[in-house]
Amino acid sequence: MKCNYCEWRCELGVDSFGVCRMYVAKDGVIQERFPHKWCTYAVSRVESVPFYHAYPGSRSLTIGSAGCNLACQYCVNAFIAKADPAVLQHNMYAFTPEKLVRLAVQRGCHTIVFNVNEPAVSLPSLLEVAKVARQAGIPMGCLTNAYTTVEATELLASVFSFVNVSLKGLAPAFCREYLGIPDSKPVLRNIARLASLVHVEVTTPVIQSVNDHELDEIAVFLAETDREIPWHVFRLLPEYKMKETEYPNIEAINAALEKSRRLLPYVYFHNFVGSEWVNTLCPQCGHTVIERFSLGCGGDKLARYHCKGNTCSECGYEIKLCGERIAWNGGEGRLV
Ligand code: SF4
Repeated sequence: MKCNYCEWRCELGVDSFGVCRMYVAKDGVIQERFPHKWCTYAVSRVESVPFYHAYPGSRSLTIGSAGCNLACQYCVNAFIAKADPAVLQHNMYAFTPEKLVRLAVQRGCHTIVFNVNEPAVSLPSLLEVAKVARQAGIPMGCLTNAYTTVEATELLASVFSFVNVSLKGLAPAFCREYLGIPDSKPVLRNIARLASLVHVEVTTPVIQSVNDHELDEIAVFLAETDREIPWHVFRLLPEYKMKETEYPNIEAINAALEKSRRLLPYVYFHNFVGSEWVNTLCPQCGHTVIERFSLGCGGDKLARYHCKGNTCSECGYEIKLCGERIAWNGGEGRLV
C-alpha cells in the first residue's frame, strides 16, 4: 500500500517501513508506528523557532517526534531525525493531545509549535492535537521541509495556522547530494499553496560555497510567489556529516543578500550573536517597527515593538503579521 504523506510515496506493509520509518500499512490504512510519542517539549520564544511575523514576543510550547523524510547531510537534529525511531521511542514522552495542550496552558504558552523534525511523519497525531488545541484557543505552528504531497500539504494547513518552510536550495544537483531528494519542485509548489492558505515564512539554511550562490534565485522565486513572505537566511553551523565544514562568513553572505533586499521587504540574516539584520522595517517609510536580538544558536528575542496593532506607527502601512503581539508573560494565566 502506498503512503501518500510525502513525495516519496513509499510502498508500505505490516512490517515494512518507508524512508521516514514512521508509518506502516495495517488493515488497509496507513498507520503511525508510534502515535502520540514526542521526543521533546520545551518552552521557547516564537522568534527562536524562527517566526518573526507570527504572535511577536509570545511563548510557544515547542515539540517534536522522531524520523524524517529527507537526508540532509548537515542536519543539526540528526540525533533525533536520523536515529531509528523504534529505538528512540523508549525515551520519548507518551502524551495524549489533552496532556500536551494542558502542558502548554500550564506553562503559559500562547501557541504550540512543532519544530524538531518533519511534521508530515506524525500527521495523524498532530491532527488530533490540533482538535484539542483549537478547543483551548491555542494556535499551532510548525517548521516543515514541505516535501509533501498536495494532499498532505493541505492537511498541514488544516493543523497549522503559521508555517515556516525550509527552502534549502533549488538546483537538482544540490538536492540530490545534500538533501537526498531528486529536486525542489514539490517544495516550491507547496510554498505557493501554503502561502494561499496560511501564514508562511521561509528559512534558507545557508552554507558558504554550497548553496549561497542560489540566494538571488530564491529571492526571485519568493518575490514572484508573494513578496511579503518573510525570509530568514539562517547562518547554518553544519552538523551530522558536515561537521568539518567551515562556518559561513557573515560579511560575504550579507553582501550576497544586497539584491534580495531590493526585491523583498522582509529579509533577515541571523543565527549569530549581534546580527544587525533582525529588525523589521516598514516597507513603505523605512521606520523600524519591530526590534529584535539574535542571540546565536537559534536563540532570538523580541526587543521592542513599535507597531500600532499591526500597522506602522509612522505611516500606517499594514505590516504582514499573523496574530497579535503577546508579551512573554502576557495572557490570561489560564490553568486547566
Ligand atoms: S511520510 Fe514516510 S513513509 Fe510516507 S511517503 Fe514519506 S517517507 Fe515514505
